[in-house]
Amino acid sequence: MTSLPATGRRTELAENLAGVRARIERACAAAGRPASEVTLIAVTKTFPVSDIRLLSELGVTDIGENRDQEAAPKAAACRAAGFEPTWHFVGQLQVNKVPSVISYANVIHSVDRLRLVTALGRRARMAGREGREGREGREVTCLVQVSLEDAEGRGGARPADVAALADAIAAEPGLILGGVMAVAPLGAPPRAAFGKLRRIAESVRSAHPRALVISAGMSGDLEEAIAEGATHVRIGTALLGGRRPFVR
Ligand SMILES: *Cc1c(COP(=O)(O)O)cnc(C)c1O
Repeated sequence: MTSLPATGRRTELAENLAGVRARIERACAAAGRPASEVTLIAVTKTFPVSDIRLLSELGVTDIGENRDQEAAPKAAACRAAGFEPTWHFVGQLQVNKVPSVISYANVIHSVDRLRLVTALGRRARMAGREGREGREGREVTCLVQVSLEDAEGRGGARPADVAALADAIAAEPGLILGGVMAVAPLGAPPRAAFGKLRRIAESVRSAHPRALVISAGMSGDLEEAIAEGATHVRIGTALLGGRRPFVR
């Protein structure tokens, strides 16, 4: 691995961040939306804690990770170093990882089946009893991940199952229903897929008025996502650069 001196990396991240913020502002202006409606989540998978620290110093408040094995030690290192961003877990989630993910994640974007809802609720309530955050119950925001693919693909609930999952999250003490999340399908125009997500989000919202989050848009398609109402964009490559396979 080549390592840039910290000042070089800081400059690089600052420039990338300015570029991404400008894209978000242009996309919001084009959609007639205030840029303050869109939260930027920096997806830092495969990148070191030093980058998370630099991004935090540059004003990024929200950090996303997609694998618990990587995210848990990074969250612990950040906490030990005295900075605590809002952690978003955006990857596919296995039930056996729920206890760990609950211990650091503030928002879980990938809830796509009922078994996860029950496991997350139970662990959130247990985390509360252990006294974390000094109050009764640790409240974790959950998004229903929607599959926009025709075939079974990279996780996500079928659109027909979204309402029941949303109801289950809302009914689970310890969990807060935040809204919906999706990844654009491969090899199809993202705008149409995000339009479908927007309609699903609206129907969830009609039953749960506070479920306002639409997590959609990555480095390649944030404009299309913002045009279709995204409130949270998840940006890796455009902020941090190209990823190598993660090696521990
Ligand atoms: C990696 C990842 C992102 C960021 O992707 P980029 O194309 O690098 O911006 C967003 N969402 C999820 C779920 C991811 O796994």
